[in-house]
Amino acid sequence: MSDSPANERVEIVEVAPRDGLQSDPTLLGTSAKVDLITRALDAGLRRIEVVSFVNPKRVPQMADADDVMAALPRDRGASYIGLVLNRRGFDRAIEANEQGAGVDEINVVVVCSDTFAEKNQGQTTQGLIDTSNDIVAAANAAGLPVSVTLAASFGCPYEGELSVDRLRWVAEQVAASGPREIALADSIGVAVPTDVRERVVAVRELVGDITLRCHFHNTRNTGLANAAAAVEVGIRVLDSSLGGIGGCPFAPNATGNIPTEDLIYLLHRMGYDTGVDLDRLVSNIDWLEATLAHPVPGLVGKAGVFPR
Ligand code: ZN
Repeated sequence: MSDSPANERVEIVEVAPRDGLQSDPTLLGTSAKVDLITRALDAGLRRIEVVSFVNPKRVPQMADADDVMAALPRDRGASYIGLVLNRRGFDRAIEANEQGAGVDEINVVVVCSDTFAEKNQGQTTQGLIDTSNDIVAAANAAGLPVSVTLAASFGCPYEGELSVDRLRWVAEQVAASGPREIALADSIGVAVPTDVRERVVAVRELVGDITLRCHFHNTRNTGLANAAAAVEVGIRVLDSSLGGIGGCPFAPNATGNIPTEDLIYLLHRMGYDTGVDLDRLVSNIDWLEATLAHPVPGLVGKAGVFPR
């Protein structure tokens, strides 16, 4: 790895509209969601997880997924990502594409521990791997880029520790289906930088040319340290949410994703390029807090960008 990352690009996947909003106590209307996504685009973010195609009874915040998709700007060079948890969600995503209001990418979730898999998606991990492999095959056949997020890659809210061997067992089966990207997700924010280094290295040797992405939550205030560790072991795609909003409705005490503005501040000061205008991004924090009617966890929005 180079000591000088100057101009090396780290790609940010903005997840506030999906992971961020789905467990927020404030239910946003469709136009506020579209506003949030447009503000992210205006700041230079280009990969945005915008909706999930899930059962609206389970996640009411995502009930208007089709309306959000239909209202999004299509001329901004954006790649809109839709989360799907099963074949039915995938079929909805494909149907939206046929109507010209579709997603540019699919993200599938496989939960690495059986208990969390059952609570989140009603199947064992093996069942989710089989479902994911089926969706990846269908997405590849449809020419739709697909990524698979390995939830609870660093620990389970119900079972506790998740072994590296277990993670490798999941990653190997998922990689064999041929997704474009695999994300290691610390869904409950338990990881520390040594875990990140160990697990990225352990998984990378199994996945060949598949891009590895990381997804951190800041539940125990280790999220940004983990992001720094990830880029230092070669990760070049990271998820984050504006303001650090978010959680998981099916993981007890899960809190927000790492804040996009704090992550971008960190990366820029480390010498990486993100393509994002940080001042412009931070200018949206007041709007976000007013719209959600509560403060957000991110700190750069409060302290300001340095140097002025
Ligand atoms: Zn998450």
